[in-house]
Amino acid sequence: MKLVRVGNPGAERPGLIDRDGRVRDLSGMVEGIGPDQLAPAALARLAALDPATLPVLEGQRHGVPWTGVGKIIAIGLNYADHAAEAGMPLPAEPIVFLKATTSLNAPDDAVMLPFESVKTDWEVELGVVIGTTARNVSKAQALEHVAGYCVVNDVSEREFQLERGGTWDKGKGCDTFCPTGPWLVTRDEVPDPQKLGMWLDVNGERMQKGSTATMVFDVATVVSYVSRFMTLEPGDLIATGTPPGVGMGFKPPRYLKAGDVMTLGIEGLGEQRQAVVAYAQR
Ligand code: ZN
Repeated sequence: MKLVRVGNPGAERPGLIDRDGRVRDLSGMVEGIGPDQLAPAALARLAALDPATLPVLEGQRHGVPWTGVGKIIAIGLNYADHAAEAGMPLPAEPIVFLKATTSLNAPDDAVMLPFESVKTDWEVELGVVIGTTARNVSKAQALEHVAGYCVVNDVSEREFQLERGGTWDKGKGCDTFCPTGPWLVTRDEVPDPQKLGMWLDVNGERMQKGSTATMVFDVATVVSYVSRFMTLEPGDLIATGTPPGVGMGFKPPRYLKAGDVMTLGIEGLGEQRQAVVAYAQR
């Protein structure tokens, strides 16, 4: 099942994608798609509906496909070839950092360059959406706590991240830096999260091309590992790292400027498109 929220910002309706790729309105069935809807029983109830009986919604903007994201956890340097291009050693344990929830952004809404940013970069990533509370779970049990998967662009300001002292978080949590969606694809439709092709273009030029097959720490390991340090709750999002081809890895580096357009996708999880816009006070 592919769950969506469509409509104007703040007024999105819940929906699902039918067999023909159309959005079907779930607003008569559920109030929204939030943490309560991500539990197995609630998902099973939606999966039992006949989409043909639901109204079609056409031509609407996609929002983040669920609400109630309590935290956004991200894994650094989780692809061996990306660690190499970043000039950093392969981590012995997963690198964990947080992205502010205020960085959440709809999949096709603009990405805004932060104030005085000169090194804003892109990162296509597999997003893992938690469905049930996970606290110190084993690797064998980890995927049972996953509601589904989505595309995430872990937009990153490299100067803030790497040259301004402290942890990475300053360069990771800026407003609009976490485009998420267009779909939340439930786990049953992704039997093996470790063989998904992924790509990202800037202005139509292919920058990133990879596969979740080359992750250093796979999804089950990441969920289990993170759950030892903090409780994972329904609605939480984990961005699991990026393959090579980020702007920082080019010689000389290539960073985003206003007017650029990022397009990105993951096999079976849909595509995103973000125009890059200059900083504006709001
Ligand atoms: Zn990342």
